[in-house]
Amino acid sequence: MVKLHDKFFKPFISAEEIDRAMTRMASEIAKDIGDEIPVFIGILNGSFMVVSDFVKKYPKPCEVTFIKLASYEGVKSTEDIQRLIGLTQDLTGRTVVILEDIIDTGNTLAEVHRIFKNEQVKSLKIATLFYKPEAYKKDFKLHYIGIEIPNKFIVGYGLDYDGLGRNLPEIYQIKQTEYMTNLVLFGPPGAGKGTQA
Ligand code: 5GP
Ligand code: MG
Ligand code: MG
Repeated sequence: MVKLHDKFFKPFISAEEIDRAMTRMASEIAKDIGDEIPVFIGILNGSFMVVSDFVKKYPKPCEVTFIKLASYEGVKSTEDIQRLIGLTQDLTGRTVVILEDIIDTGNTLAEVHRIFKNEQVKSLKIATLFYKPEAYKKDFKLHYIGIEIPNKFIVGYGLDYDGLGRNLPEIYQIKQTEYMTNLVLFGPPGAGKGTQA
């Protein structure tokens, strides 16, 4: 059990299970991409650990870069996505793979598609380590999914609760009591402002 700020989290997905999912995704993507040199783009902050482990498993030459978006407040996703660092390189004609830590409502992904609408990329693929099918509200295709999870708030492996928990090497799930359900639905008093994706 882990305590971060006011909430308790219990072990949910082990480092080994994450490693297996990442290995599978890396070899699937390498097989599909063939001899092209892809540009992997992580969405900061949450995806830093996914990207770092993923590219070590990618068996061929590739480029790696990041964009930075923010959408989450505390334990709830918001539609107000801020672009903190945008694209800094010309991606014309390139094979781009977005690497996400988690896809929840899909709001962040919608922003990614807005960013790429005017880029003349050869192809744009979406890969995510975690996916919450019950929460997803968009129609964008998700090309590679590591692990599907229920619609509950998780932390660890890059994912934070109000800034904490990113350094945990495995995934923890929020421990819900009735009291905590109220906190999740209505938010803790005054907490949870400005957490970044
Ligand atoms: P979406 O825009 O799809 O609702 O959420 C995307 C971003 O919100 C993710 O990249 C991640 O940073 C954050 N997020 C979504 N679900 C969770 C969760 O269960 N735990 C944490 N810590 N962050 C989440
Ligand atoms: Mg993210
Ligand atoms: Mg966050």
